[in-house]
Amino acid sequence: MHTPMFSLEVFPPKRTSPVGTIYDTLDGLNDMKPDFISVTYGTGKSADRTATARIAHTIHSEYGIDAVAHLTAQYLTARDVDEALAMFDEAKVSGVLALRGDRNSEREPAGVFTHASDLVCYIRERRPNLKIYGACYPEKHPQAATLDEDVANLKAKVDAGASHLISQLFYDDDFIAFLGKARAAGIDVPIEAGIMPVTNAKSVRRMTNMCSSRVPRKLERMLEKWGDDPRTLREAGIIYASEQISDLVAQGVDGVHLYTMNHPSVSRRIWQNVGNLFEKA
Ligand code: FAD
Repeated sequence: MHTPMFSLEVFPPKRTSPVGTIYDTLDGLNDMKPDFISVTYGTGKSADRTATARIAHTIHSEYGIDAVAHLTAQYLTARDVDEALAMFDEAKVSGVLALRGDRNSEREPAGVFTHASDLVCYIRERRPNLKIYGACYPEKHPQAATLDEDVANLKAKVDAGASHLISQLFYDDDFIAFLGKARAAGIDVPIEAGIMPVTNAKSVRRMTNMCSSRVPRKLERMLEKWGDDPRTLREAGIIYASEQISDLVAQGVDGVHLYTMNHPSVSRRIWQNVGNLFEKA
């Protein structure tokens, strides 16, 4: 029986946050022994690739954990990507999560990397040995007309060189059906399920809205009952995420990617519940 992977995601703290914040986050996540920690990269005007590279370097060199750097490319030129890859080489990242990025109404795309697969292809040619990750969407990407169309585009991303996929958050039980569709389409790389714990009613509403992700009745009841009681909602959210994870592992998924939202205390509580499911023999 295979042991599923377990990975974590953090984001660079805001420029206005104290410099040490990321250390507090990483100190809190360190003993979960994740297979890797990925570091996001924004698409806003103030997005800072150096922050992603710096944090990835810290994860690798100071915590001894593999680091994966996200790179969103629709606003980048080929030269920007070359610079980012050079920074990631120096940071000794173990992989890059190649993304198109969300549309930002304030900016014009650079027109070079229209789809994530364009970026995957570009990196694959220049870094044949670098592991390239890609994003996937169990409930389809909001811009795709159908899940079948989205899965066909996902297959093109894998054919271009993505050798590991990480899913968008989901709260309903669509993941296994999505997995079946992906496998039937010939996608045979590992696919990790992305889990975002519920900690705050407003942010769940915002995220599920943005991702067009369904809010099942069970979660809707939690939000209605404890939307104004953040402590209780947080506790219920920890149980919800733990149950999602144990159910996914029971169904044999390749791995789970936990969106920590830089809240190590929540991630740790979930880890206390389900960490044994990921222990290597
Ligand atoms: P794509 O793979 O390009 O897909 C986007 C849409 O285009 C889909 O509808 C797809 O079906 C369609 N498409 C793809 N290829 C083709 C083609 N050849 N022809 C026609 N249509 C096509 N955003 C950030 O800004 N920073 C981050 O750090 C970040 N991290 C993320 C991590 C994960 C695990 C996930 C799931 C998402 C993350 N995102 C991040 C969000 C992501 O940038 C958005 O979801 C974005 O809208 C799509 O990016 P993508 O790489 O999936 O794009």
